[in-house]
Amino acid sequence: MEIKEAVDLFKKKNSLMAAYNHAMGVMYYDIETAAPKNAAHGFGETMAALSEVTYKLSVNEENFELLDFLTAHSDELDEITRREVEEAQKSLKLLRSIPIDEFVEYQRIQSEASSVWHEAKVKSDYAMFEPHLRKLVDYTRRFAKYASPDTDPYDYWLNEFEEGFTQDVLDDYFGKIKAALVPLIHRVMEKPQADDSFLHKHYPAARQRELSAYLMSVMGINRDDCSIGETEHPFTTGFNKHDVRITTHYYEDALASSMYSVIHEGGHATYEMNNSDELLGSPLFGGASCGMHESQSRFYENIIGRSRAFIDLVFPKIQEMFPEQLDGVTAEQFYKAVNRAEPSLVRTEADELTYSLHVLIRYEIEKKLLRGELDTKDLPAEWNRLYKEYLGVDVPCDKEGCLQDSHWSGGSFGYFPSYSLGSAYGAQILAHMKKELDVDSLVRNGELNKVTDWLREHIHKYGMIKKPKELLQICCGEDFDPKYYIEYLTDKFSKLYEL
Ligand SMILES: [Zn+2]
Repeated sequence: MEIKEAVDLFKKKNSLMAAYNHAMGVMYYDIETAAPKNAAHGFGETMAALSEVTYKLSVNEENFELLDFLTAHSDELDEITRREVEEAQKSLKLLRSIPIDEFVEYQRIQSEASSVWHEAKVKSDYAMFEPHLRKLVDYTRRFAKYASPDTDPYDYWLNEFEEGFTQDVLDDYFGKIKAALVPLIHRVMEKPQADDSFLHKHYPAARQRELSAYLMSVMGINRDDCSIGETEHPFTTGFNKHDVRITTHYYEDALASSMYSVIHEGGHATYEMNNSDELLGSPLFGGASCGMHESQSRFYENIIGRSRAFIDLVFPKIQEMFPEQLDGVTAEQFYKAVNRAEPSLVRTEADELTYSLHVLIRYEIEKKLLRGELDTKDLPAEWNRLYKEYLGVDVPCDKEGCLQDSHWSGGSFGYFPSYSLGSAYGAQILAHMKKELDVDSLVRNGELNKVTDWLREHIHKYGMIKKPKELLQICCGEDFDPKYYIEYLTDKFSKLYEL
């Protein structure tokens, strides 16, 4: 086969795959936002049929031969095509190594585990879920061994989600985080808390929708390329740089909840909308990794959105929208209220300071599960012990404890660390951005576009062309270093709580 012929065939398959993924993505968005409750049945059947088509499109000998041919000629390919081939190989590596009957059996176990988890969570009944989790852990270890026989299973999965990260690297990272944050949190807890009762007055959803529109305009989000919908759990999904969708959830007794969901998801959306034009239709559309994607959402949500400068910028308008609820409240009080730090039970509701400890607990548990050092039967006890030790909180029930996240029920082990790495990447990126930009003044003056321009040029435009490690080199001229994250949190919360 000629190279040109192979590349054309590869690109044609990519376009077809993109079309199926686009269709399934829009259906998923629809089921989460607009579809009636009973649409779930038909949806499941259609999704299963389409998934089978896409599976067959990529998992077949002809495609493997094509990819192997292109890999063998990778130095003759342009950068984008070379990376597309690399990513396609990566996503197929596991599927190519697992015996088909085990793969089919795993799919069945996974979907069963997922539905049992939903019920177990409602009933707060871990025992009901435990046998399913046991099977998932078993398969997760086995599959890692198929794909990479000489690698420790947990290292295999960690590297799948965030390339270059292993238990050695993460033990060092979390060790430093724990050593710095646990005492810092203790000192914060000794201080009086800011009053945030005004955030919990009645905030009508209709008005909050106007606030969302305002925040998206402050972020410079082009509404012709990005829509906003409403869901139980906010998320972002994008199909190309001109069609990105974010969602939020309005709680009428919690103003900050949707406000920061919109900024967080708006950060994910900004990343995707700023991909370069050459990624239109390419499977390299999106973000470099889960951690890098999360770095951008958290950058806008916490580093920018919870900064004093940002509050100075947006508070007058927010007060104008909610004159009765925020009567007599100052920007300083609002700033302190949205930055209240307090150990809590639920990761997704955790504040900026305590968040990474929630992730650390999951990391330690996953590590022990996959190394066979923790039996699934003993998981709740271990979970509760770690929450007490690191965050000082007593877990009253498994619903608010080890059953709270959906990840494990979907067979996903090794994903959690990327949430924390995202925050750490963000702090490191900020430190280097500040050498070139007066970030605070720009934000205070409403010139967020200049911050976004910097991120577009250093990160966003590359989509998946560059890997996280390369992006950090482009942004910072150095490798990952957790010291920036520790310095950022220590500095911010020492000032906030007058330590
Ligand atoms: Zn996110």
